[in-house]
Amino acid sequence: MTTSSDAVSVERAVAQALRAARSVVVCAHVNPDGDAVGAVLALTLALREAGVNVVPTLADAHDAPATYRFLEGFDLYRPCAELDAPDVFVALDTPTWARLGDAETLARSAGAVVVVDHHSDDACFGSLNLVDSAAASTASIVWRLLPVLGVAPTPAIAAACYVALMTDTGRFSYSNTTPRALRDAADMIEVGVDARSLYSKVYESRTAPALALLGRVLSRITIANNGRVVYSWIAANDLAETGALAEETENVVDIVRQTGRVDAVVIFKEEGGTTKVSLRAKCPTLDVGAIARSFGGGGHVAAAGATVDLPLQDAIATVLRVLPGGAA
Ligand code: 5GP
Ligand code: MN
Repeated sequence: MTTSSDAVSVERAVAQALRAARSVVVCAHVNPDGDAVGAVLALTLALREAGVNVVPTLADAHDAPATYRFLEGFDLYRPCAELDAPDVFVALDTPTWARLGDAETLARSAGAVVVVDHHSDDACFGSLNLVDSAAASTASIVWRLLPVLGVAPTPAIAAACYVALMTDTGRFSYSNTTPRALRDAADMIEVGVDARSLYSKVYESRTAPALALLGRVLSRITIANNGRVVYSWIAANDLAETGALAEETENVVDIVRQTGRVDAVVIFKEEGGTTKVSLRAKCPTLDVGAIARSFGGGGHVAAAGATVDLPLQDAIATVLRVLPGGAA
């Protein structure tokens, strides 16, 4: 258990390490979501304000998700294979070495690794670990670090943090929509965030192919486990056949979770011979993080994921068995 004075001293140590570094690389987890991109770009922009030499990178060889291209700093992303070992590697929103994907090698070659995260299962693999599982998003922790870094928030930094906070709270609807989260959001709006515009850019900009993919997912919705689970799936050929991009599947689970009277929501994505599973709990006593960990994945109590080493139909049967109303 960290006390708040411990947290303050870790914040100070992190700020000091970053300000003193000759080079910093900032990265988040594989399959980056809104918090992963927002937190990385917010910290990148803040460190540039502080005059620190900083480069944002990605945990895998794919491009950064174009959904977030409108954020300032997006063009600064460089592939990790092109980068030299930095003084400090910052891992954001990333609970384990493995979640750094291809960037793990670069992180291990750095002078120091700083972990900034809000996952309660974070392994604290850094030499400094600023981990707060009560924070609604990792970008919220970055936002609070700004005064410690001596950086005044700019509209661009606030926008990156706001997008992260909006997406990780499910548009301010999940149980992490705390007073603190809403106060932070209010502060970001005061700094110059246009809440309407950012909402529209993230949630009202679906392409026709992405909607075609969503149509397929909706048409496959299945209620299982005596009515306690809703699931659907994305088949390997769906992306090619609809023309949707992999990152455009990010919010599909939010739409399937609109199903009433269920305790759990699952999206299965066929990826070659393996299956990526996205789990969401609608019932407050269900811990999908624990279920994801039992399959070698991880995440939060109400939102978690894993990659199961089984083909689609077997993965569906196996995961349903351990969910509420399943046979296990
Ligand atoms: P999503 O279902 O949107 O991919 O992920 C939901 C949450 O679970 C996020 O916090 C994400 O980082 C985490 N998560 C998803 N897949 C994995 C995984 O394979 N391993 C771990 N450790 N966490 C995951
Ligand atoms: Mn997050």
